[in-house]
Amino acid sequence: MSVGSSYNQSVSILVKGIVQGVGFRPFVYREAKRHGIIGYVINTPDGVLIEAQGVQCKAFMDALQKNLPEHARIDSFVILECEPIDYSDFEIRESIEGEGNIAIPLDTALCLACQEEMDDPQNRRYRYPFINCTDCGPRYTILQIPPYDRVRTSMKHFTMCSECETEYTDPSSRRYHAEPISCPQCGPQLKFLDNSGHAIKGDPIELAVSMLKAGKIIALKGLGGFHLMCNATDDLAVSELRRRKHRKAKPLAVMFATLEQLETYTDITDDERSLITAAVKPIVIVKAKVGTNLSPQVAALIDRLGVFLPYTPLHRLLFETIDFPLIATSANVSDEPILIRTDEIINRLGNVVDGILSHDRTIVNALDDSVVQIVQGKMVMLRMGRGFAPHTIALADSLSRSILAVGAHQKSAVALGVKQNMILSGHIGDLGSVEADNYFERSIQTFKRFYDIKPSLYISDLHPTYSSTRYALAQKKRHDTLQHHYAHILACMAEYSLNEKVLGFAFDGTGYGDDGNLWGGEVMIADTHGYERIGFLKPFALLGGDKAIKEPRRIALSLLFESYCLDEILDLKSPTTEAFLPHEIRMLHHMWVKKLNSPMSSSMGRLFDAVASLGGFIQSLDFEGQGGMIMESFVDDSITQPFGFTVLNGVIDLSIMVKQIIGLVTKRDSKRIIASRFIVTVEAIIQFFATMYPELPIVIGGGVFQNRALMNRLYYRFGEGRFYAQQQTPINDGSIALGQLYYAIHNTKEDDGS
Ligand code: ZN
Ligand code: ZN
Ligand code: FE
Repeated sequence: MSVGSSYNQSVSILVKGIVQGVGFRPFVYREAKRHGIIGYVINTPDGVLIEAQGVQCKAFMDALQKNLPEHARIDSFVILECEPIDYSDFEIRESIEGEGNIAIPLDTALCLACQEEMDDPQNRRYRYPFINCTDCGPRYTILQIPPYDRVRTSMKHFTMCSECETEYTDPSSRRYHAEPISCPQCGPQLKFLDNSGHAIKGDPIELAVSMLKAGKIIALKGLGGFHLMCNATDDLAVSELRRRKHRKAKPLAVMFATLEQLETYTDITDDERSLITAAVKPIVIVKAKVGTNLSPQVAALIDRLGVFLPYTPLHRLLFETIDFPLIATSANVSDEPILIRTDEIINRLGNVVDGILSHDRTIVNALDDSVVQIVQGKMVMLRMGRGFAPHTIALADSLSRSILAVGAHQKSAVALGVKQNMILSGHIGDLGSVEADNYFERSIQTFKRFYDIKPSLYISDLHPTYSSTRYALAQKKRHDTLQHHYAHILACMAEYSLNEKVLGFAFDGTGYGDDGNLWGGEVMIADTHGYERIGFLKPFALLGGDKAIKEPRRIALSLLFESYCLDEILDLKSPTTEAFLPHEIRMLHHMWVKKLNSPMSSSMGRLFDAVASLGGFIQSLDFEGQGGMIMESFVDDSITQPFGFTVLNGVIDLSIMVKQIIGLVTKRDSKRIIASRFIVTVEAIIQFFATMYPELPIVIGGGVFQNRALMNRLYYRFGEGRFYAQQQTPINDGSIALGQLYYAIHNTKEDDGS
C-alpha cells in the first residue's frame, strides 16, 4: 500500500554534475543517517550512484537536492524504483572505474575552517602548507584519471598516518573522504632550492621570505603550476623580472595578503569583492588607485590591475611576515604554457629566478590562474583556468560518437564532445613553439584518458597552417574545418544552448576568412548549421603584414591613405604621421599603391589599434590588445556622441571617423574625446544592425569584447533578454574549440561513418 512517503521505499538514484571531490558522498552519507536510510553511495564513471531504502526516502531525496555542499552542482537526478535488498546499514563503497561521463571536480581555494586550523598553534596542522578538507584543496590538478579517489591522484604516493586515516574514515569528520588529506607527519614536504637545483638548508618558508624581502625573484609551486613572485612595490625587482623574462609591458598580476590590503591599492565594487573572496579566488581585473607605492612597472599606462588573494595554504604562509603585495605571475617562457615541474624551472627559468620554493606533491594537470572581470554585475571570462576548468556543459541528447575540437592558435584550448557532455579545457597557451605544441597534445591525451575515448571526428579552424589544424589532419580520422568568427558566435550559443537564428557580432583580432582574407569585424546571421556574412568592416591594408600588427601606426597610415592624397598626408598634423620620417611615409605609400606585402583585413581589433595610433595613445605595441587597454582608461561614459560611419551593402566604412579624429587630435582633451567617441561608434555599429533585425537575439564573441568600456555600454544598452555574451567560458579565442564542437554536434549524423 503506498500512502505518500510513509511506506518503505527502495530506489536507485543516479546523480550527475559536479558531485565528486566536493564532499558529496559524505553529504549523502550524513543525510542517509539523518533520514534512517540504508543502502550505499558509490562514485561511478557515469556519476554518483545511490541505492536507498527506508520510509523517509522521499524526504531524503528532497534533502539531497536542497542542501548541497558549497561547490557541488547537480545537472541531473534520475530516480528508479527497485527491488529491496537486505542492507544492514548505509555505507560509502569503493569507486568503479571505466568510461567516464561526469564533470571533473575543480580545485578550490583554502576554506575558512582550514584557515582557522592552520592559524591555531594547538592544532596538529598548525602552519601546515598542505592543509585541505572536503570543501577545499587540489582536485583536477592532482587527478590522473576519474573517478576522483586518492588512489588515482598524485597523493597516492603518501600513506596516511593513523590520525589522518581516522579522520578520513569518520563520517562525522570534516575530512571524511577528503582525498588529498595529509598532515606534517604523513604528507608532502616543502623544500627550498637555489636556481641550479641545490637544496638550501633551513626553513623553506623563511628562506623564500628573506629572498622576497631582499628584492629577489622566486618560483613557488602552487596548485596548477609555478608562480614567479617578487615584491610588487620594489621597482628594481619588478623591472628585473621584466628584463629577465623579456616581458616589456604586459601587466603582471598582484597577490595581496588580505582583502583589507587589496582595498588600499584598488577601488573595487561589491560584485568584484565577492568574486575576489569567493571559493575559487581567481585573478580579478579591477580599478587601481593612483598614488600607491605599487611599482609603476606592474601595469604601465593602464589604470587597471589584476588582483587576487592567497588561495593555497602555502601562499598564505608567505604573507605571515611579509607586509607588501607580491607579483604572482605564471612561470612560463613568454606566452608558452605554465611550468609544473621543478626541473623545468631549473632548466628553462634558472636564469629568471633566484630561488625555488617547491614540494613533492606532483602536479598532474597544469592549470593557470583564471582571469576574470566584472561588467555591470556580469562576469567576463578572460582566461579560464584554476577553479573553472575543465568546464562541462550538459547536452539534452547523448552523442552517438565522440568529437574532438582542437581550437585555434592563440589562447589555445580544446573541447571534447562525449555522451551527454561538452567539455572545454582550460587555457593552454599560444601554439607555435615546440613546448606549447607538446603541451597541446598532452592536453588532448589527458582528455582521451579521462574519458577513455577515441574521437572519430576532429574539427579545427579553417586556417591551414595552425599547429592545431595540422594535428587534426594528422589523426587520419574524419576532419572538418570551421570559419574562426562563426566559431566565436557558436561558442556563445553553446554556453546558452541557443539553437535559433541569431544576429552575431564577431569582433576580434585576426582569423582566416572564407575568402582567404583576414577577418575580424564580422556581422553574421547564424544558426547551428551555417551563417551569412551580412556586414563587415571595409577591409584595410596591413602595411608590412605581421609588422603592422606590432605597429598600429602602419594600420593608421593605411587608413589615412584611403582618405587623403600623399601630399596632404605629408602636411598633416597627426601623431601617426609624426611617428614616421617623410621618406618612410613615401615608401609605405608605394607599398600601399602596389599592394606589396599588404594583406587586407576587416579586423575590429586592428581598427582599435589604428585608432590608438591616430589618437596619439600608442604607436607600437608590446603586447596584443595594448592599444585598446590604454584607450579604455580615457573613456568618459558621459560622452555619447558617435563618430560618423556609413554602411553600404553591409560594408562598414569608417573614413568619416578617420577625418573627424584628424580634426580633433590637436584640440585640448582630445584623448578623452577620441577614446570615448570611438567606443560609442562601435556600439552604434552594433545598434545599426540590431535595428535592422529586431526579431533576432544578439550574440557577441571575440577578443575585442574584453574591452570593459565597450561591454559596459553594450550591457547598459541591450540589458537582459535579447543580448547574449559569454560569462562562464572565455569571450576570446579560448572558446573557439567550444564553438567548433557545438557546430560538429549539430552537423553530424549517426550514419556519417566513423
Ligand atoms: Zn578546508
Ligand atoms: Zn597524517
Ligand atoms: Fe578569435
